[in-house]
Amino acid sequence: MSAKSLKDFPSIKTDSESLEDYKHDMVYEGAPEAIHMARDWQDTSEILEFCDSHQTPVTFCGSQTAMTGSSVADSGLVVALANKNKILDIGKDSQTSEPFVITEPGVILGDLKRKVLEEGYQYPPDPTSYNEAQVGATVATNATGEETFRFGPTRWYVKELEILRANGKAETITRKGPPPSEPVKNSAGYFLGGEPIDDIIGSEGTLALITKLKLKLLPDDSPGRFLLILPFDDFASCLDGVLFITSQNELNPRALELIGPGAGEYFRECESCPGALKKSSLFLYIRDDYKDDVDKMNKLETWFQNLERLYQSLGQTHQMNDLFLAETPQQLSDIRECRHHIPLRVNETYFPYTKLGGGKVGTDWWVPLNHMKSMMLETYEEASRSGLPFLTFAHIGNGHPHWNFLTKTPEEKKIAQALVEKQYHKAVKHGGGVAGEHGIGKIKRHLIGIQHNQETIDQMKALKNKWDPHHILGQGNILKS
Ligand SMILES: Cc1cc2nc3c(=O)[nH]c(=O)nc-3n(C[C@H](O)[C@H](O)[C@H](O)COP(=O)(O)OP(=O)(O)OC[C@H]3O[C@@H](n4cnc5c(N)ncnc54)[C@H](O)[C@@H]3O)c2cc1C
Repeated sequence: MSAKSLKDFPSIKTDSESLEDYKHDMVYEGAPEAIHMARDWQDTSEILEFCDSHQTPVTFCGSQTAMTGSSVADSGLVVALANKNKILDIGKDSQTSEPFVITEPGVILGDLKRKVLEEGYQYPPDPTSYNEAQVGATVATNATGEETFRFGPTRWYVKELEILRANGKAETITRKGPPPSEPVKNSAGYFLGGEPIDDIIGSEGTLALITKLKLKLLPDDSPGRFLLILPFDDFASCLDGVLFITSQNELNPRALELIGPGAGEYFRECESCPGALKKSSLFLYIRDDYKDDVDKMNKLETWFQNLERLYQSLGQTHQMNDLFLAETPQQLSDIRECRHHIPLRVNETYFPYTKLGGGKVGTDWWVPLNHMKSMMLETYEEASRSGLPFLTFAHIGNGHPHWNFLTKTPEEKKIAQALVEKQYHKAVKHGGGVAGEHGIGKIKRHLIGIQHNQETIDQMKALKNKWDPHHILGQGNILKS
């Protein structure tokens, strides 16, 4: 049978009930006309071929957590991957002995992480949303997380992708050399100048459909974990703490996170917050690992010696008595809860104001570490002058903190948006970028021009033309189609 319309494919549904779940994510409303739950790649391939020849837009959809509108279709067909959720193989390369996992794209990242751990391996990429996000989508957004500090972005772990091109043609793309090491934080458009596999990673469903992934694993040879929560007297010292820790070769934490001005209050108000941490409201949050008890003792000794030197240099030796070591499962889970309490409480409190024209205005910029302190202090000064409530927290070890401005009225929101726009320009001037995670999608497309000049944008357009000449994939994501 040769299909005349999408409805001729039995696996495509167009009734409003089937479409309901795919009309929006948390930030963007779309208008998809049809949905195909992928089950058989041959079927999906024929559907893509049909769409390409009829110039029907196609949007790929994972768990819709990107919060950029990237998985939401303005029109045309949605291809949902949730049913392609099998882990196919965990093994070791016969030549290099490097461990790998082969998986379908719809597997939930957290499930994959737990499964490989059972086999003695770790898959490091850890966006906070790992229990919701699909692994194919984390590659399509080049996801990062707390432990990107030590382990880098998703890009570093992608060895091979099987894809369907826009015209439905299947292809396998294998990485030939080592992955590009820089930039660690970059989800502002296409990666230029890499191997073909780098085109697809972070391309937000605009160049091809990822149908199978071969991902690099690491041995899980240090299964123990501890957290150090370091209090500081003032913001500048806290940032000096980041620079100190990152400059010490013998310190190599898995994560180095900020609980900065405004965020500390939310952290402390959480019921699980240990009493010892209620005195301060500015912290660095460090996660490290160990192989066994001896390794743990050695690592803690190294940490304490270095922290003593840090606090001495800051004239804050009293903080040695107040720093908190979380090492039992209960303590680790309490601190995790306090950390998650920050965005949860902020969203809960300020989401109702979105209906009144206010709400949370957040940032996703990043800067190289040598520009981090000046960028943070300038931003802090401007934020304080604005009179708006604000907080800053998250991936400071990668120069990628989140700033949230909390607004109740349209007027306040406008002030916050102007402030944030200024910050994006400044971050780029400092050698950084406008999007450290989540991608650009539809709602942050205006930021591309802040980071990239016309020549780079033209190169990105050429890349899009090469992979998807009829511009059917992920319409409206990254670049204006
Ligand atoms: C509470 C919360 C915390 C978060 N924390 C982080 C974080 O720490 N770090 C981070 O990086 N992100 C974070 N995110 C953003 C988000 O979870 C990630 O971008 C994640 O990778 C998206 O996964 P998803 O399955 O929801 O994909 P979706 O949102 O459904 O899709 C994202 C993009 O991937 C494309 N896509 C999906 N599947 C495929 C496929 N098989 N082939 C080609 N393209 C495909 C879609 O078209 C879309 O462009 C967070 C989100 C939330 C809600």
